[in-house]
Amino acid sequence: MALSISYEDIVTAHQRIQAYIHQTPVLQSTTFNQLVGAEVFFKAENTQRMGAFKFRGACNALLQFDEHQKKKGVVTFSSGNHAQAIALAARELGMRAVIVMPQDAPQIKIDATRGYGGEVVLYDRYTEDREAIGQKLAQEQGLTLIPPYDHPHVMAGQGTCVKELIEEVGSLDYLIVPLGGGGLLSGAALAAKTLVPRCTVLGVEPEAGNDGQRSFESGSIVHIDTPKTIADGAQTQHLGQYTFPVIQTYVDAIHTVSDAELVAAMRFCASRMKTVVEPTGCLGIALAMQVNLNLKGKRVGILISGGNVDIQRFAQLLLA
Ligand SMILES: *Cc1c(COP(=O)(O)O)cnc(C)c1O
Repeated sequence: MALSISYEDIVTAHQRIQAYIHQTPVLQSTTFNQLVGAEVFFKAENTQRMGAFKFRGACNALLQFDEHQKKKGVVTFSSGNHAQAIALAARELGMRAVIVMPQDAPQIKIDATRGYGGEVVLYDRYTEDREAIGQKLAQEQGLTLIPPYDHPHVMAGQGTCVKELIEEVGSLDYLIVPLGGGGLLSGAALAAKTLVPRCTVLGVEPEAGNDGQRSFESGSIVHIDTPKTIADGAQTQHLGQYTFPVIQTYVDAIHTVSDAELVAAMRFCASRMKTVVEPTGCLGIALAMQVNLNLKGKRVGILISGGNVDIQRFAQLLLA
C-alpha cells in the first residue's frame, strides 16, 4: 500500500504554513554535550506558537480547506495541545472551531482553548465516545473533522520542524522524537530519511504506555488502556492507520523512558538550558540521557515537542 504522505507534501506544507508559524530556535548546551559525549541540537518547539509543534499540523490542515469548509468551520476532539492548535489556527484564518473535551479536563486547558476562540463541547469520558461526538457534530453542523494525529495533512505539517532543523544544522547521525499517536514521528522520520538517508531515527514513548514499541516490533497496531504517566501529550491508546505504515518504513527503533527520567530531563532543561518543557516534551532528552544509549561522537537532533505545563504543576514536579 502506498504511504499517505511523501516528502513533497512536507515541502509544500512548509511553504503553506511559513507565514503563520515561528521558525523555532535550535538550542545547544555544552553541559549536555559533555554529559552524553555528543553534539546535540535541540529543536525548541516549546517556543512554537501556542507552545507546541501541533500548530504546524493544524495550520497545514486548515489552510487546505475549500471555501465551503472554511465557511462552516472545523471540529476536533482533544484535551491537549491539538485543541489549542486548532483553536488558534482557526482564529487566524477566521474560521469557527468546535473542540470536544472531557468534562474533567484541567480547567486551564479548557480556558486556554476558549482563550484562542475555540467553542468547547464537554463530554463524559467514562460513558461517551469522543470520536462519535466529533463525527455527529461534523455531520449535523457541516464541520470538517481534523483528528490529532491520524491525518496526512497533520502528519506533513508536523514533519516541517525536522526539515527546518536539518536545513539549519546540516547532517545528523541520530534524530530522537517524542511519540504519542505518531503524527510527529511519521512526518519527522520521513523528512529525516529523505534529507539524510543514513540518519538513525528513534521514537520515544512513556514506559507506562509502550503500545507504539509493541506495535512496531509486532507489525500490527496494539491498543492499550489510557496509560498512567505524567506525559499527558503521549497518553494515546494506539498508533494511527496512516501514521503506523510511515513509522514502520522510516523509523529504526522505539524506546521508552520512565516518569522519573522525564522529571530529571525537565529539571535539566529548566536549570541548565533556561527553558520550560512539559513532561511529554522531555521524552527525547530523557532518552538521550540514558547511559545505555551510546551517542558518543555523534551529531544528534532532539525534538523538544512542547512547553505547556501548568506552572504550579511544573514547580511541584521539579521539587518532588
Ligand atoms: C501531541 C504531542 C506529542 C505526541 O505527538 P503525536 O503526533 O501524537 O505522536 C508529543 N509532545 C507534545 C508536547 C505533544 O503535544
